Amino acid sequence: MEAAVTDADILVVGAGAAGIAAARAVREAGSSVRVLEARRRPGGRAWTDPGTLGAPFDYGATWLHQAEENGLARLAEGGFDHDSVRSHRCHIDGRPAGATEIAQYDAAYAAFHPRLRSARDAAPPDASAADFAPRGGYWDATVAHWEGPVICAAPLAAMDLRDFLDTQLSGPNLLLPEGIGALLEGLAAELPVTYGAPVRRLRWQDAGGVVAEGDFGRLVARAAIVTAPTAVLAAGTIRFDPDLPPETGQAIHDLPLGLLNKVGLRAAGADRLGLAPFAGLERRVEREDEAAMTFIAWPFARDHMMGFIGGEAAWALSRQGPEKGPAALLDHAFAELALSLGPRAARALRREPALASDWGNDPWSLGAYSHARPGRADARRILGQPLAGGRLCFAGEACHPRLAATVGGAWASGEQAAALALAAR
Ligand SMILES: Cc1cc2nc3c(=O)[nH]c(=O)nc-3n(C[C@H](O)[C@H](O)[C@H](O)COP(=O)(O)OP(=O)(O)OC[C@H]3O[C@@H](n4cnc5c(N)ncnc54)[C@H](O)[C@@H]3O)c2cc1C
Repeated sequence: MEAAVTDADILVVGAGAAGIAAARAVREAGSSVRVLEARRRPGGRAWTDPGTLGAPFDYGATWLHQAEENGLARLAEGGFDHDSVRSHRCHIDGRPAGATEIAQYDAAYAAFHPRLRSARDAAPPDASAADFAPRGGYWDATVAHWEGPVICAAPLAAMDLRDFLDTQLSGPNLLLPEGIGALLEGLAAELPVTYGAPVRRLRWQDAGGVVAEGDFGRLVARAAIVTAPTAVLAAGTIRFDPDLPPETGQAIHDLPLGLLNKVGLRAAGADRLGLAPFAGLERRVEREDEAAMTFIAWPFARDHMMGFIGGEAAWALSRQGPEKGPAALLDHAFAELALSLGPRAARALRREPALASDWGNDPWSLGAYSHARPGRADARRILGQPLAGGRLCFAGEACHPRLAATVGGAWASGEQAAALALAAR
């Protein structure tokens, strides 16, 4: 539903997971709401391509993590517990790792989190996750590569130790056959959202209420919930009038977005590369920041693979720009597959059609998801604090102290911000 821009009790800026959750909560409380969304679609960083690969493919969020704590998981039908079938194949210099090597890899992984947790209490306030990560072992760089660039979209050295530990996720990890973007699109369908309506200026201390301005005109509300990603806020895309309090501006700065990009590659024929449906494919690295990619083969026994690249390697490809970056990422994915699987990979997978995300160049995300800079573990709490008695509230994945960086965290933070905004003086 494309809604006209009219005044409302509560304005929500952004129709991603946080904005949709906030708008639904406001409606359920019996108040009026308007959502202004910069893009021409809902979902934000959760976006499903319905059929280019012959099946849905999520450009952004892929799993509903921590399903038992995740409000979105309760709304999703048919979520499939990926962990129930998960298997991994790890290659070393083009050959599959042997059983003993995998056992050593598992042991290195098992040692990682306990080591960081045991360092927590005595660590200096500005400790990063890298400061206590095991080093020097044969598998340590591979574990760090997973825990930093692949899972958190940023190097361990960029992340605050305590925030890193506080935002660790565990299962169940659900995959949705129809895609997470499609789930959010359905949840937004009945909401009064105006698309293609970026908010350029927000006056948040006027006597008459909060006033949003942009090409759409002007909208007045009793309170506003802003869900734009922290990188978009840090870029000054929305001019706040008056300026935000210094501690809020600092919190935005202290929660930058890392980068994770994805590719979707379709099978050319019957060759499934010896990989079972849902199997993971990865390779051992010598350095945490190697441009290695990880893959998930044939989800739901479908005809495509998903590939992931994170951290500085993803930024390096993204810096080639929106024209060249996605093509360079696809080339890189094929080169990575060839490293592990040889020339067979190029025969088994098509170059076209293929999909590649480009979240770093997307002006409404400017990255994938947030981490806290070392020493700034309290930034999420600060950003989530209501301003002007609840008239201005921030919400989104970056505001959730526990499920940060996830759609589930964004959803919960949107619901919480709705309660704060509804209680605004
Ligand atoms: C590649 C990738 C993989 C991921 N994998 C997972 C995963 O497996 N599981 C998981 O839980 N999470 C994952 N995430 C993270 C997850 O997608 C995000 O944490 C979540 O979607 C963020 O929701 P949000 O509502 O906070 O922000 P967004 O989804 O970014 O929504 C904010 C909205 O605000 C809009 N906006 C911005 N500025 C303005 C403005 N000035 N005016 C109006 N509108 C504006 C944007 O267009 C956007 O729609 C992944 C993300 C990426 C990119």
